[in-house]
Amino acid sequence: MIAEVIVDISSSEVDKVFDYKVSELKDIKRGSRVGVPFGNREIEGYVVGFKEESDVPDSKLKDIVRLIDDYPVITEEMFELMSFMRKKYRLRIVDVLRLFIPSQMRGGRVKELKKQYVSVRDEFINADIDTFIKPAAKAQRDVYYHLCDVGSASLTEMNENFSASAVRNLITRDILRVDSVEIKRTPYKELKDGVSEPRVLTDEQKNAYDKISAGAGDTFLLHGVTGSGKTEVYMRCIADALNAGKSAVMLVPEISLTPQVFRVFKARFGNSVAILHSGLSAGERFDEWRRLISGEASVVIGARSAIFAPVKNVGIIIIDEEHDSSYVSESNPRYQTYDVARFRADYNHCNLIMGSATPSIESYYYASVGKYSLLEMNTRVNKRSLPEIDIVDMSKEYAAGNNGIFSRKLESELHECVDGGNQAIIFLNRRGYSSYVMCRSCGYVAKCERCDVSLVYHKEENVLKCHYCGNRYSMLDVCPACKSPHIKRGYVGTQQVVEKLSQMFPGKEILRMDNDTTQTKDSHALILERFASGKAPLLVGTQMIAKGHDFPDVTLVGIVDADMSLHFNDYRSTERTYQLITQVSGRAGRDTKFGRVVLQTFTPNHYAYKFAVDGNYKGFFEKEINLREITKYPPFAVIVRVLVSSETEDAAFGVLKNIYGDVMDYVTAHRSDFAYAAAMKSPVKKIQSKFRMQLLARVVSGAESALDCIYAAAERYRTAKTTCFVEVNPSNLS
Ligand code: ADP
Ligand code: ZN
Ligand code: ZN
Repeated sequence: MIAEVIVDISSSEVDKVFDYKVSELKDIKRGSRVGVPFGNREIEGYVVGFKEESDVPDSKLKDIVRLIDDYPVITEEMFELMSFMRKKYRLRIVDVLRLFIPSQMRGGRVKELKKQYVSVRDEFINADIDTFIKPAAKAQRDVYYHLCDVGSASLTEMNENFSASAVRNLITRDILRVDSVEIKRTPYKELKDGVSEPRVLTDEQKNAYDKISAGAGDTFLLHGVTGSGKTEVYMRCIADALNAGKSAVMLVPEISLTPQVFRVFKARFGNSVAILHSGLSAGERFDEWRRLISGEASVVIGARSAIFAPVKNVGIIIIDEEHDSSYVSESNPRYQTYDVARFRADYNHCNLIMGSATPSIESYYYASVGKYSLLEMNTRVNKRSLPEIDIVDMSKEYAAGNNGIFSRKLESELHECVDGGNQAIIFLNRRGYSSYVMCRSCGYVAKCERCDVSLVYHKEENVLKCHYCGNRYSMLDVCPACKSPHIKRGYVGTQQVVEKLSQMFPGKEILRMDNDTTQTKDSHALILERFASGKAPLLVGTQMIAKGHDFPDVTLVGIVDADMSLHFNDYRSTERTYQLITQVSGRAGRDTKFGRVVLQTFTPNHYAYKFAVDGNYKGFFEKEINLREITKYPPFAVIVRVLVSSETEDAAFGVLKNIYGDVMDYVTAHRSDFAYAAAMKSPVKKIQSKFRMQLLARVVSGAESALDCIYAAAERYRTAKTTCFVEVNPSNLS
């Protein structure tokens, strides 16, 4: 018998299946992980199929030497998903494999944690001790009596607490037996397994839950305002899946994967819950993954990649905060979580729920045309009204002589909040802008030498950093262009806000949460726990603080500069602004206290703000979808970008020109399928010393066949030195 094997070589471009003989090993199945000889070493591979004969001459065929696990690690469902993803995203087999099997699993880097336990063999338990341990062997008798008492104990502990030589003696004489027992490393063990009983559903929750229960393999868009109790609806659906003997997949954005969330699910579903996310140690991840594939755990909670969790017989898939951009993988292997979720829902005939207080325009559009079933929850569980949003026109503040970070309104609200013993969140949207450093005399802006982007000033270290490549530069004293000493720091950063607040509230603890303060493993959780404890009245942060957190004492949210994301050059920037404002506002007044939001802007009449103030998602959607239809952007078109990058501008240009030639032939033949197609330099012309150019197209019909042409062209002209990436609806076009 011949096995077809994919070999797992990380650096290789190999995308083919190799033949190996199966002679000795009986239990090899499709999906088994095996050790195979490759070149002159042994590497890991995955059996993808069997056949009777190989085209390779028998003398050249080698044997599979080892079966690594006693179960197939790739299930039949995953094999089908693999071919789906290869076709849809043009991925190589190895790329897909790496999504399915966490890196910790591969190459034997992490192993089971095993502990040895000793116990008295059955035949000696009620026997006459004098017949096998001499009365004088006191140490041995102590060991024996202790183990008869407790049943079994860890070998290390026995050696520490008793005579190790006595223990050894009894083991060699087969009076004690030693068993190797696997210890599973459980993440968040310290979370107390409280108990959470299902709640009595509100009418809106019941309506949503009933509709989902009546579904059969449908996609539901659960549009529920912040605090409407979406989580309770998810948990009911998960409980039903478990009761039917099935498993459940629950996805949340990485940033909302907090101990708070795990606690809620662990309290309801106990040990059935497994957690997969990047913050776990390698051992924890390995063990949680194996708890899932063995069926010991059947609810997986995790970020995007948890959609590949090895659970069988899936009963429900949930994508919470479905609008979140982290559900799109923007680097190789590129994929959209929704597509994978939909594939698995089809395969398992189960429902898929996508939930959000601010659904993406595309999802809501699909719901409005009946592709998804729309479920609405318009009121908060506790009947609290949504927080009131005050818009402050910052140009009026400036005209009145206030050029500080905070408007007079926000300043007085902050005092009222903190002095009243409540908590406030100050939000600074830093997406897509840099707090650049500029010369006031000549307009010079400090840029990274390797990337075409402006540098960001970091006050604590007094350095300039490139947020694309991490390069550091010393802060400028004089302008390198004109020698002027008048160097201005650009926009306000979180550090500046903290500084201002510490002047306003001396002695009060101010927490800061942004990319810089959350570099270490638990820092994110620690900051949130600290804030939740109520000891710090103020939390300053970027979009990291916008999501999912439930702090009952927060009565005020300040949005320092709402306009930041509005002016980002992306067709989704208005949508993102609306979402961020709604999400961050939703942090206020979630419990019994009334919440208030102060939103500072230079464009107070922008429709995104008007609709956000009224909490009128539908109004916003109507306006936005009309714009998209007129301007031909998603969902009315598919945006395709071919990003070409190379060490030299000429090389990039040469490759792009060839691709452009082929694609334009196609465009000319299919004019009406395209709203736009052109080639140009990328907005960021250089990243990490690589020049970047691109072909950009918007396809309004026949996307499938247009993509075939574009992928083929990129494939045809890429060279070893020039990379070509095809991106479909990328969320970042820089
Ligand atoms: P969302 O995810 O929609 O923003 P949550 O699921 O966080 O809202 O729910 C908000 C709060 O309401 C939570 O504290 C939750 O425990 C509580 N809650 C949810 N459903 C009910 C219910 N049926 N009865 C009482 N409290 C509920
Ligand atoms: Zn200058
Ligand atoms: Zn750089």
